[in-house]
Amino acid sequence: MYDWLIVGAGFAGSTLAERLASVRNERVLLIDRRPHIGGNAYDRYNDDGLLIHQYGPHIFHTNSQQIFDYLSRFTEWNFYEHRVLAQVDGMLVPIPINLDTINRLYDLTLTSDDLEKWFAARAEPVEEIRTSEDAVVSKVGRELYEKFFRGYTRKQWGLDPSELDKSVTSRVPTRTNQDDRYFGDEFQFMPKHGYTRMFERMVDHPNIHVMTQTDYRDIRDIVPHRRVIFTGPIDEFFDFRFGKLPYRSLGFKHITLDKAWYQPVGVVNFPQTEAYTRITEYKHLTGQEHPKTALTYEYPSAEGDPYYPIPKPENQELFKRYERLALATPNVWFVGRLATYRYYNMDQIVGQALATFRRIGDAVPLPSDQMVVEVIRSKASLAS
Ligand SMILES: Cc1cc2nc3c(=O)[nH]c(=O)nc-3n(C[C@H](O)[C@H](O)[C@H](O)COP(=O)(O)OP(=O)(O)OC[C@H]3O[C@@H](n4cnc5c(N)ncnc54)[C@H](O)[C@@H]3O)c2cc1C
Repeated sequence: MYDWLIVGAGFAGSTLAERLASVRNERVLLIDRRPHIGGNAYDRYNDDGLLIHQYGPHIFHTNSQQIFDYLSRFTEWNFYEHRVLAQVDGMLVPIPINLDTINRLYDLTLTSDDLEKWFAARAEPVEEIRTSEDAVVSKVGRELYEKFFRGYTRKQWGLDPSELDKSVTSRVPTRTNQDDRYFGDEFQFMPKHGYTRMFERMVDHPNIHVMTQTDYRDIRDIVPHRRVIFTGPIDEFFDFRFGKLPYRSLGFKHITLDKAWYQPVGVVNFPQTEAYTRITEYKHLTGQEHPKTALTYEYPSAEGDPYYPIPKPENQELFKRYERLALATPNVWFVGRLATYRYYNMDQIVGQALATFRRIGDAVPLPSDQMVVEVIRSKASLAS
């Protein structure tokens, strides 16, 4: 009998397995239908010995000391600040848009103060910022929106930015200085020996039994367990009874080139041309030294594994219906990006899992906790 059956061995499932096994000393069966642990953050060495990310580039960044400290128990880190260039009008320029982006693109010599005025002169007033288009044109105007955002968003989501929630493009800041880092977080690191090695150390515990290539449906009635933590798609858990939650998917083309370097930074975006959205060159991210180099091309698609929940109001409403069912389902905890139908970064998922662990502590006392509570109660009744 397992105390917990945890479905999905990504950040959500592995964090909870680790906590339940080591802190509460409970028996955990951790399953994943993929042939590996790590979820979307899974990385592996390819045939040439280059470390690549199977499901696209994953860069760790957080402002939370607590989350960084927690993961640091399972890995050492390499310092890495992510930088991205966009190919626009035949040039490679920094994205998020900054002072150098505008000066190079328009052959100008603006200062930061000038650039603020330059943006203000082009920004279009928008009464209420609702869509991804509103979020950009209200800050930098229509021309930059067309060059950097419109084509990229249409490729990535198969939708025009005017049809998408403002959250999609609001995530990308605009800067008037020369800061060309993609993220501004306090902690920006990559696991020194890769994500998969980190996950292996998280789940390496005598109380955790890991089974890959195992679907929840195939074992839920066979393996005895007391409670479930489900980190898969919430609509699938309920057999899609209200219909499917829409997702955007990706196709990945992984290649190796017989030369040391291909591009100047880890990721180059293609907002105007090409069928793919971006190219990643992993050696920039991993710090690996190797005479060859590995790249991944990302092709957005409507079909395939669920990667990005599509942020539209009607989809949120559909999710809320499933969420109500989830809340009424005893002994099952829904955690992670697929179960909560929302794009979260890795650190946010670890934070969500740690918060769930605390809630489990309140809701599911251990037999020994129960005994302590009983003793306190009986002492209290004796005293009264
Ligand atoms: C292309 C891409 C790039 C990203 N880049 C970054 C980045 O740079 N930085 C960052 O912080 N975040 C990034 N993210 C987000 C990151 O991937 C997620 O935050 C993280 O993977 C979520 O972890 P999770 O455990 O919730 O889900 P997942 O990692 O998806 O794990 C869920 C697991 O559940 C398994 N599963 C589902 N259903 C079942 C079932 N019925 N039975 C058994 N197993 C099941 C799946 O196989 C999967 O392995 C990126 C995401 C994508 C798609």
